[in-house]
Amino acid sequence: MTNKGFAIAIDGPVGVGKSTTARLVAQKLSFTYIDTGAMYRSVALYQAENGLDMHDSASLEKSLKKINIKICNVEGFQKIFLNERDVTELIRTQEISEGSSVVAHNLAVREKLVAQQREMASAGRVVMDGRDIGSHVLPWAQLKIYLDANLNTRVKRRMSELESKGLPVDFEKIREETIIRDERDKNREHHPLIRTEDAILLDTGSMTPEETADAIIKLVSEVENVL
Ligand code: C5P
Repeated sequence: MTNKGFAIAIDGPVGVGKSTTARLVAQKLSFTYIDTGAMYRSVALYQAENGLDMHDSASLEKSLKKINIKICNVEGFQKIFLNERDVTELIRTQEISEGSSVVAHNLAVREKLVAQQREMASAGRVVMDGRDIGSHVLPWAQLKIYLDANLNTRVKRRMSELESKGLPVDFEKIREETIIRDERDKNREHHPLIRTEDAILLDTGSMTPEETADAIIKLVSEVENVL
């Protein structure tokens, strides 16, 4: 692997294993991992903690002026800071998952976060996951991956993720929330979730995160050979 810049864009719906896979790929290749969903979640947390409406554009635009989000690596773990406070765990609740897909509709929110994401990616070799990475944030990425899996598999994964954090789980509720978030992400006006023509589709239904990460790493070496 050379030292020149290289971006891996990973997109896909809720619960498909994007962050676990992206983190593993980044660890194995010594790339920087950038979790863009955590940034939308941080905006939603700010609105929730200040009793502000997630749907209100004027309120969101005002909040953006007061919001400073940082993604840092602390002893090998990625931490998210909202106005210098560690919110890594606080942004993982159901309420914030739901809120993040609402604030993600707002163009001003997207523009601010996308500018920051591009700035972070310009620093070198990155794995970035989200919904619009290959289509909008890093359309020049050397490798674009679209992860997918059927709904029930994704719901079960979300359940184990929440369970492992000691958060409450209810299959039907999580299934419904997953459907709603996917619908919102796929049908919104600005930068919806799409699979671009140049994105490689990986169905993670019968793959472990390790297997998915290894498949991506194999693709990276194939791409590097033709660059
Ligand atoms: O990936 P994660 O589930 O943490 O993302 C939370 C929400 O943030 C998504 O449901 C989506 O609405 C929004 N998002 C987005 N664009 C991204 C990343 C996340 O709109 N690049």
